[in-house]
Amino acid sequence: MKITQNIHALRIPFKINISPTQTSERFVYSYIITGEKISLIDTGVAGSKKIIFDYIANIGKKPQDIENIFLTHSHPDHIGSAKSIQEETGCKIHIHGDEKSWAQDVELQYKERPVPGFHNFVEGSVKIDNILNDNDEINLGNGIILKVCHTPGHSKGSVSYFLKQDNVLFCGDAVLSSGQMPVFEDLQECILSVKKLANFKNVKFLLSSWDKSYEGNMIGMIFEDSIEYLSKIKKAVENIPISERKEPSEICRKVIAALNLPPIMANPVTFMSFKSFLK
Ligand SMILES: [Zn+2]
Repeated sequence: MKITQNIHALRIPFKINISPTQTSERFVYSYIITGEKISLIDTGVAGSKKIIFDYIANIGKKPQDIENIFLTHSHPDHIGSAKSIQEETGCKIHIHGDEKSWAQDVELQYKERPVPGFHNFVEGSVKIDNILNDNDEINLGNGIILKVCHTPGHSKGSVSYFLKQDNVLFCGDAVLSSGQMPVFEDLQECILSVKKLANFKNVKFLLSSWDKSYEGNMIGMIFEDSIEYLSKIKKAVENIPISERKEPSEICRKVIAALNLPPIMANPVTFMSFKSFLK
């Protein structure tokens, strides 16, 4: 789907088997930025190369024009098909320093964050060519500048990208809207990151990995909604006596129940989010 003259959104569906009997239907977005060359924001799950290459061919470009992959973070649904795309096109992969070890060594990531179905979602480790820092500006040619904004919380090296020319903000998994699965590493950092994104002026489109695109006035409302939702999660944890915060899975189940979220949202993926409250 075309968002602006230079930006296209690709919705990539996939399934997570969250238990032997339960499957969750999900999707993730990958974005294509066209210009002199092509840049991708994230690459979807393993096997998404064909969807991405077919789309690029449909808009009259060549996959070989892919020059960059800008990763928002290292989770498997974002780096999933980066390996085969890099091997076939020789493109450069950019990521924040705090995500590098998990992208370069997916087995290390699996050891430290064993999400169900991990190996189905990621093709393998990737070679990182460039480490990103907050406020970096990358010139993509034709006057297109991509600015990096460090937005930790969902993961410690999560970044968002602002495409200055089109006033488009790519937020990865940084903006958790109400009712979405609570996946994070540090809840307080999540809140601060959404507030940081809300400071961007004149944003025309907000493009998330797990949500549809938002335009104009809706964008401020989405940030407010996210801050409120994240704050409610925080409060729900604080309402659990410290003596009862022994198991992440228990904290998770209580929070999911307190917020009236579907019980299926308490699963091995979200259990990990609540580890941080044991500290
Ligand atoms: Zn993620």
